[in-house]
Amino acid sequence: MRQSEFTPEFVTTVPEELEEGRLYISERFRTASHLCACGCGAHVVTSLKPAKWQLTNRDGRVSLSPSIGRWQLPCQSHYWIRDNRVVWSYSFTEEEKSAVQRRDAQAVRDYYEARRGRRSLEFLRRVWRRLTGRDRPR
Ligand SMILES: [Zn+2]
Repeated sequence: MRQSEFTPEFVTTVPEELEEGRLYISERFRTASHLCACGCGAHVVTSLKPAKWQLTNRDGRVSLSPSIGRWQLPCQSHYWIRDNRVVWSYSFTEEEKSAVQRRDAQAVRDYYEARRGRRSLEFLRRVWRRLTGRDRPR
């Protein structure tokens, strides 16, 4: 299931089986783990080290920085966890995806039609030249 929020759980060691919607934070091992917010089941481990991710905790509302995903994840999800909430980076909705697909398909059709149109025009020009010896009709 797609998550809109995570519940932080402060643990010593991260359990092997993760529950969706939970962000397991081990301060001792300096990692946070969760199942990808899109619901794909990918196990996301973020190392809480200065050069990696930074976790901030404001009264039990946690934020992770930088963002999670896209290149790390096979599902290509990309989101932030801010104040326990999942903030999705822009991604196409199904409707937008099909609009893009329709536009692409139309562009392909237009391209082939234009090419066909140009070809038949060239053909007519060739016939005209052969018949009249002139480049263009007057
Ligand atoms: Zn995912």
